[in-house]
Amino acid sequence: MILVYIESQNGKIKKSSLEAISFGQQLKTLTGLELGLLASQTTDTAVLADMNVRSLAEQQLDSQDPVTVAQFIAAAFNECGASHLVLSGNSLGKAVAGVIAAKLKAALLSGVKEVLQHNGKICFKKSVFSGKANAIYSIPGSKAVISIMPNSVAIVRGGATQIEKKNLNIALTGGKYKINSLDLQSGKTPLTEAEVVVSAGRGMKDPSNWGMIEELADLLGATTACSRPVADIGWRPHHEHVGQTGIAIRPNVYIAIGISGAIQHLAGVNSSRKIIVINKDPEAPFFKAADYGVVGDLFDVVPKLNAAIKKSKSENS
Ligand SMILES: Cc1cc2nc3c(=O)[nH]c(=O)nc-3n(C[C@H](O)[C@H](O)[C@H](O)COP(=O)(O)OP(=O)(O)OC[C@H]3O[C@@H](n4cnc5c(N)ncnc54)[C@H](O)[C@@H]3O)c2cc1C
Repeated sequence: MILVYIESQNGKIKKSSLEAISFGQQLKTLTGLELGLLASQTTDTAVLADMNVRSLAEQQLDSQDPVTVAQFIAAAFNECGASHLVLSGNSLGKAVAGVIAAKLKAALLSGVKEVLQHNGKICFKKSVFSGKANAIYSIPGSKAVISIMPNSVAIVRGGATQIEKKNLNIALTGGKYKINSLDLQSGKTPLTEAEVVVSAGRGMKDPSNWGMIEELADLLGATTACSRPVADIGWRPHHEHVGQTGIAIRPNVYIAIGISGAIQHLAGVNSSRKIIVINKDPEAPFFKAADYGVVGDLFDVVPKLNAAIKKSKSENS
């Protein structure tokens, strides 16, 4: 059985979990195994109406701390008699996947972006060497924990769902700590789930110049990001830092403004579907990775871009 762990936020199943379900469906098609869902929060199943899912095992945990969640998922995996666990490689997935694999003595494949048939075997594709190559893995044993790179699997709908809910009652010893309150940033989509990202670097010269970046992001419904030096010197918060030592993202559109495109930066963003670069230096390395580029002074280009988007929006509203 393929067990897909799903998460909800504000009562809604997260997009990253819908991606994990779609990945599970592809794995089901290739293996012929059954597919079931697992949740540690109450799940609004309405959104699953056309996701062709039949069973959901659920238990409301007192705490969503990674130690407790890992304990729960490993125990549920055994109780459901599963062979494959699929979960999103988001921050929770990264924290728990290795722990669960160790508990289950299962293979761990993290940051997977595709499942495929290769030389007659079910295999899994991952980006390696900072996105410079793809590697294809197979699993020799019978058990696997697979975390999915966010934004890498298309959500596929189709097939009516009649979900049978099963309430689990797994006794847990409790984690090493308990989250007493969670102060969620409202409004913006988390970087790993964002469809559009507007990112800026040292070319901005000063943190006080970020207004135009935030304005562009607001106009496009995008999330903001930055290069590492900008976060290191405190111009932007560390959670915005993307790259090899920051967050790896895969949005549909990545707009890089005043960022040179160093290899360590590209490592976290070069899987983006479309890259747009604005830089005054035509020799900036980022242009080699760009789908579209503007050679120009960002202090001239970005305000004009914002004005053009506003004009277009007002004409079309
Ligand atoms: C081990 C290691 C790990 C690292 N990890 C990361 C990482 O995860 N993420 C990361 O980002 N970096 C990382 N780095 C740093 C990386 O090597 C680069 O130094 C960094 O990405 C450069 O940031 P930047 O492009 O913002 O700044 P710069 O390299 O200073 O580039 C600024 C760019 O802005 C352009 N510019 C300047 N003024 C304007 C203007 N008015 N209009 C338009 N364009 C303008 C310039 O032409 C230039 O291309 C790492 C480095 C090491 C050694």
